[in-house]
Amino acid sequence: MDNVDFYLNDLKTKFNKINPTEYYLSYSGGKDSHLLYWFIKEYAKIDGIKIVGMNTYMEHPEILKRIYKNCDIVLLPSLKPFEIKEMYGIPCFSKNQDDFIDRYQRGCRRDYLLDRIYGKKFIGKDGKEHFSAYNLSKKARELLSSGNLHKVSPKCCKYLKKEPAARFEKETGLKAILGVRNAEGIIRQSKYTSCFTKTMNFTPLWDLDDELEKQIYKKYNIEIPQIYNYVCRTGCMGCPYGSYKHDTEKELQLLSESQKKFVCEYFKESYEVLGINTNKKVA
Ligand code: SF4
Repeated sequence: MDNVDFYLNDLKTKFNKINPTEYYLSYSGGKDSHLLYWFIKEYAKIDGIKIVGMNTYMEHPEILKRIYKNCDIVLLPSLKPFEIKEMYGIPCFSKNQDDFIDRYQRGCRRDYLLDRIYGKKFIGKDGKEHFSAYNLSKKARELLSSGNLHKVSPKCCKYLKKEPAARFEKETGLKAILGVRNAEGIIRQSKYTSCFTKTMNFTPLWDLDDELEKQIYKKYNIEIPQIYNYVCRTGCMGCPYGSYKHDTEKELQLLSESQKKFVCEYFKESYEVLGINTNKKVA
């Protein structure tokens, strides 16, 4: 048995820990949740798990099509993107940093927050001083403290994604199966450390690394959306949180004129701060 089948067999064992009728698959149309979709429907053939997606109004057309094709239920948010921008602000640096900025811009001045905003060092177990990975970046700090930062907030994710899911869970009593992996960044490394979260959402891919995921896709010829030929992650169209390795600029090239106009208007101020050139041609 090779690595791939060893992993998939182990994944089956993990699924034995849940009662399928008490869970739904949170399906974003991206690589991780689609891997779980394929596993549930085709590899392990597990009955009783509802596939639930979300139309955030911000998906790439190809991903949105996939969501409607594969989901039993598609949820809609209660607020639209420009309503969120007006009320709370827009995403800019990272979810974590934007959360600190949002709280600061709304007047919070608690010690912990100020430490992160001003980049205070802490004493590590080795007795030496370290910068916290949660500190604001230099650019964010300078703009915020000089009062030159626009209204920034990670609440776009809250209202377009988390709230509709929370509403659905409350109405149905179901818990989520999430395609999240701790290989995807420092916050996730500390957040996902086993198959279950504190609220008993099921995160069976938590320890899957990029290489093995790639091998599973290859061995079983699992469909990958074209968009992955251009960017390494798909979130919402043009989201600044995908500006890693110029992915946002690449994504903008893939949109229709009207989609690009919508996205550039929505994220305008963040693009300016991050130096995202909306007309740049990126290979
Ligand atoms: S990924 Fe970006 S655009 Fe999508 S909901 Fe979250 S903040 Fe908004």
